[in-house]
Amino acid sequence: MQICVIGAGYVGLVTATCFAEMGNQVVCVERDPQRVAMLSRGEVPIYEPGLETMLKAQLAGGQLSFTSQLKAGIRRAEVIFIAVGTPSGEDGSADLSHVLAVADELGERLDHACLVVDKSTVPVGTAERVAQHINAGLARREQRARVIVASNPEFLKEGSAVEDFMRPDRVIVGCDEERGRELLRRLYAPFLRNHERLLCMSVRAAEFSKYAANAFLATKISFINEMAGICARLGVDIEEVRRGIGSDRRIGTHFIYAGCGYGGSCFPKDVKALIRTAEHEGIEPGILRAVEARNALQKTLLFQALREHFNGHLQGRVVALWGLAFKPGTDDLREAPSLVLLDALLTAGAKVQACDPAATAAVAARYAAAVEAGQLMLSESPYAVAQGADALVLVTEWKQFRQPDFPRIRGAMRMPVLFDGRNIYDADQLAELGFLYRGIGRPASG
Ligand code: NAD
Repeated sequence: MQICVIGAGYVGLVTATCFAEMGNQVVCVERDPQRVAMLSRGEVPIYEPGLETMLKAQLAGGQLSFTSQLKAGIRRAEVIFIAVGTPSGEDGSADLSHVLAVADELGERLDHACLVVDKSTVPVGTAERVAQHINAGLARREQRARVIVASNPEFLKEGSAVEDFMRPDRVIVGCDEERGRELLRRLYAPFLRNHERLLCMSVRAAEFSKYAANAFLATKISFINEMAGICARLGVDIEEVRRGIGSDRRIGTHFIYAGCGYGGSCFPKDVKALIRTAEHEGIEPGILRAVEARNALQKTLLFQALREHFNGHLQGRVVALWGLAFKPGTDDLREAPSLVLLDALLTAGAKVQACDPAATAAVAARYAAAVEAGQLMLSESPYAVAQGADALVLVTEWKQFRQPDFPRIRGAMRMPVLFDGRNIYDADQLAELGFLYRGIGRPASG
């Protein structure tokens, strides 16, 4: 099939590459010419395991190409995916300006019948608006091409995006016309060979499903974090409770890990956007508000614990941070809990030595002044940042941090104090090794 994907971010790039991998002819349109140049050379501007190898192979095979010219990208396309960003607007609702700008441009440039698919996360009713914008442009030019607009929200996770796209749990297709559903069924068939998991529904239900899914996952996290807060007061270990409840199949083991809060480009903005939608419809979104509030609180817990530990005096203390990206497997810093902690530590006058396998470059750019002033040191070595530290804080649970050489760490640190923001360590073992250990919702040990 001839495919065009508009937007070469996390979603667009993975979508374009994976469709090319399945034998489709794909053109990816990206407005940033520098990004287009990089991608055309086979350089991937984001950290996503497996993506670069696949992209290089598809470029070399001629199945995939990049352009900044929409007209060239859509020339032969039977299906056009819109995969541009939908960040939070000023009032928290989804900012659709990028999506609608693409729709306007499609209205100006399309000259053949095709299926346009919203892959971006967009509120209910957006497909109708996209169709209106396209059709207005077509009508102005007296262009009679018939365009169907469908919704196909994306569920990939950064860090395992290629794997998720190639082997999806399910694909949701929202389209009110059989012709559009048929095209998407054909396109996704190779990804779903052994299990028919393509769910067809109304466009509006598909649009809503994405928000409901993210809001539910965020709710699970905030729920367990609230339980952890109660456990901490009662001297109960949330880790034991997690295992206790996760073994119930109705609850399950996923997304019930207590920690220092969720971040990323999706949960925070999608929960916010859903709150605005509910308000707009006159519904009080009490659960969603509580999910947000708990997460905001959770992101401050590590700093509170550090401040308490140092009796309010962080000035001049050396704090080592492990993990800066919002989660393992990505270089994405959007809404990362590490940023809340970093800001607070720097403001309090602490010296921060931080390590991340993928995100140090982005952090260096964002905190250039602190790096310059020597208040923030960045490294890819977990041991280098532990050197001379008064406390070590695990913020993002990259695999590299799971089983470090703790005696070596203890030897490097000025004081063996460990704050575990993801509860990945064995508290007793660390206490035996001489560490003072603090987790989230766990009794203190050491
Ligand atoms: P992103 O910000 O990483 O990428 C968007 C890209 O689109 C950018 O490179 C930008 O330059 C480009 N762009 C913007 N306007 C354009 C235009 N008019 N023409 C061509 N290119 C244009 O965003 P993302 O993380 O890939 O997310 C895209 C959408 O997918 C969002 O709605 C997001 O909520 C949703 N989503 C994201 C994820 C995720 O894990 N990142 C997962 C599922 C869904």
